[in-house]
Amino acid sequence: MASIQEFRCEVCGTVASNPTHWYVIQCGDRALTVLKWDSETANAEGARHYCGEAHAQVYISRWFDSVCSPAKPDFTRSS
Ligand SMILES: [Zn+2]
Repeated sequence: MASIQEFRCEVCGTVASNPTHWYVIQCGDRALTVLKWDSETANAEGARHYCGEAHAQVYISRWFDSVCSPAKPDFTRSS
């Protein structure tokens, strides 16, 4: 029988064995993909695990900081 596998949120360290409401992120130099939790996805090579939207956002923010800097000028402001 398969042993119980535990996953740890990379941000807060919470551990869960069947975190169906968590998120999986696959991240590379050129792309970041957020996936709904799935045991196959969660066990895929390079998968990162987050206990919820908030902590997935923390990682996404870090990724933006590392990849998309310096920031481009803000053209969304109309004057
Ligand atoms: Zn967390």
